[in-house]
Amino acid sequence: MNKPATFPATRADWETAAGVLRPESRLFIDGRFVDAASGETFAKVSPVDGRVIAEVASGAAADVDRAVSAARAAFEDGRWRSLEPKQKKAVLHRFADLIRSHTQELGLLETLDVGKPISDSLAVDAPFAADCIQYYAEFADKLVDEVAPTGPNDLALIRREPLGVVGAIVPWNYPLIITAWKLGPALVAGNSVVLKPAEQSPLSALLLARLAADAGLPDGVLNVVTGFGETAGAPLALHGDVDMITFTGSTEVGKLMLVASGQSNMKRVALECGGKSPHVVLADCGDLDAAASAIAWGIFYNQGETCHAGSRVIVDRRIKDRLVERIAAHAATISLGHALDPSSKMAALVEARHADRVLSYVDIGRKEGAVVAIGGRRADHLPGGAYVEATVLDEVKPGMRVEREEIFGPVLAVIPFDDEADAVRLANDTIYGLAAAVWTADMGKAHRLSSAIRAGTVWVNTYDRSSLATPFGGFKQSGFGRDRSPHAIDKYMDFKTVWTHFG
Ligand code: NAD
Repeated sequence: MNKPATFPATRADWETAAGVLRPESRLFIDGRFVDAASGETFAKVSPVDGRVIAEVASGAAADVDRAVSAARAAFEDGRWRSLEPKQKKAVLHRFADLIRSHTQELGLLETLDVGKPISDSLAVDAPFAADCIQYYAEFADKLVDEVAPTGPNDLALIRREPLGVVGAIVPWNYPLIITAWKLGPALVAGNSVVLKPAEQSPLSALLLARLAADAGLPDGVLNVVTGFGETAGAPLALHGDVDMITFTGSTEVGKLMLVASGQSNMKRVALECGGKSPHVVLADCGDLDAAASAIAWGIFYNQGETCHAGSRVIVDRRIKDRLVERIAAHAATISLGHALDPSSKMAALVEARHADRVLSYVDIGRKEGAVVAIGGRRADHLPGGAYVEATVLDEVKPGMRVEREEIFGPVLAVIPFDDEADAVRLANDTIYGLAAAVWTADMGKAHRLSSAIRAGTVWVNTYDRSSLATPFGGFKQSGFGRDRSPHAIDKYMDFKTVWTHFG
């Protein structure tokens, strides 16, 4: 591994590194960085301190057309999908290695783009992206087709074929990881990709594109169109020559992807959308402190900007106060600080206006009768206006807006219940179904509750443990289709039957 032995150790060192960074900020089309056809750019403001860190190309329909044409040409001439499996595998492994050897640069770009703690970008985001590409590289020479049973004079092959041009529209909360979740399976399946990163997080995507090219991915196979949802994302979703949209983002925009598919060419759509994931904590929870720790990390990690953040705690009233006390104690250890300070465990939200939105929910909760147990304020000693304290809203009642709506920030809603039979009903009383947890020492109950809860992942006596080998995604309005695991490859491929008759 080429990973640097040590990273800068202090905030000052990171600020110096950030000061000399000149990130690529143009579109990546057909193997080259190019300006938007219109020449337009937008200012990328870093939530770390409110400063402009780049003028980024503002892609629009004409750029999407160029990128889709390049992707189509690459797909049709087979420069990628027809490579020998072992060649594809080697390219993807080199791509993963390059991500690892650029951990420092990718991590810094990720933090500057979205405000997450630098230590997380280095320890989690960049390495997990590399691991994901490496995981899917291994499938390049292991995907096999099928032969159906026939009579002796026939041969019926069931071949798995790539879809063609995949449009990947991704959010800003885990830009590197979610992009890798799309690229790994889409590329190993042989597709070409046009990636539209969120306008808040364009920079790590552009570096990824360069690293993919350096690894030997042929021109046109991966293209990146930076820009806004309405001007760059919508034309991609509506494009008649895109075979699939793989989307991660809000439920609201996810629904627009379905509309765009219907209004254009009936392209495939895979959706990973929002969540309001519950912890169900029963009175017989074996280790309340372990539960409190997992609950605190499950909502405050990444400032709560996690689709599967455990943002609701549905807890037996008899143990509620003890649990809230312990959650508060654990929250106090998750230090909120400057994003470039390596000791910070929580840092900035993605934008100051997102912080405003999150704080407005604290006010809404108060007005609805919730009690602010901890936090609830902006951290004004930090620059840029995007830092918000870890917040726990106690005594939340079913039906309150803070209990129903995805806040996407460090705000936990605690909902006490009196009757255990109600707990599952409350857990399922949501439009979402991304994740959940059950806390109980009774394995029979754990088993019953985990099957009764409608969610793509249910953890028992833990939270947020996962690996690339397990599928991730939602039920209900959290979307459909799965990222991660071998199953993710299926959604980027389709079956073709080739029936041969021997006269
Ligand atoms: P968002 O829906 O606002 O944006 C997601 C992407 O869609 C961005 O690239 C954006 O530019 C693009 N977009 C916006 N409007 C568009 C339009 N009209 N047409 C085409 N594209 C458009 O979401 P966000 O604010 O970037 O991310 C936060 C949301 O993502 C949360 O709801 C979160 O739960 C969800 N999320 C889900 C998962 C998951 O795996 N289920 C993972 C991460 C985030």
